[in-house]
Amino acid sequence: MTLKKIGIFGGTFDPIHHGHLILAREALEELGLELVIFVPAAASPHKPDFESAASAVRLEMVRAAIEGEPRFGFDAMELERPSPSYAIDTVEALRKREPAAEFFYLIGEDNVERLNTWHRFGELAKLVQFIVLDRTGRQAEQPYPVIRRHLDISATDIRNRVATGRSIRYLVPPAVEKIIRARQLYREPEK
Ligand code: ATP
Repeated sequence: MTLKKIGIFGGTFDPIHHGHLILAREALEELGLELVIFVPAAASPHKPDFESAASAVRLEMVRAAIEGEPRFGFDAMELERPSPSYAIDTVEALRKREPAAEFFYLIGEDNVERLNTWHRFGELAKLVQFIVLDRTGRQAEQPYPVIRRHLDISATDIRNRVATGRSIRYLVPPAVEKIIRARQLYREPEK
């Protein structure tokens, strides 16, 4: 029997963008995953000073972005728990739900260095296979398998572009842009 392979993609997703989506699809194909679950974080323990858009809106954007892709799903559990969100809690909950699955936890290259400071890292590392998403294109050696596809897109840049009146077309799905406009997100320059 082959185990069901599930990818977990945690993030602030403020907003979700084509970098996330293209790399999630790449991971799906390269690792033969059945499903990638996007898990928006309540508040990132790694970005404590960062004031993010309301969690309901970030979730709404994730839903809109993955609509119609049957192999992408989302889970709001981290938004329902008191913050900060810890990956280990999410993984333990998903494992209870899918005891016969093998889990792959996707993280951007920029997070690898701090990974061993994550809450209960030792236990987490036993429960998931970490997969690194290339972010710099520098082909640096990584302690985990890497999805190599360099996409220079960040949520920070998207928020800055909105705040300064520049276009975000082609950086986010049209449905996400529509929500950003309708809810007037990211109008204020970041402090
Ligand atoms: P911000 O610019 O606000 O820091 P972000 O674009 O990094 O946001 P997050 O929601 O923080 O987006 O990202 C979730 C995860 O996806 C993180 O592990 C992050 O490193 C990774 N990630 C985001 N964008 C990319 C990208 N273009 N290439 C590779 N990894 C990415």
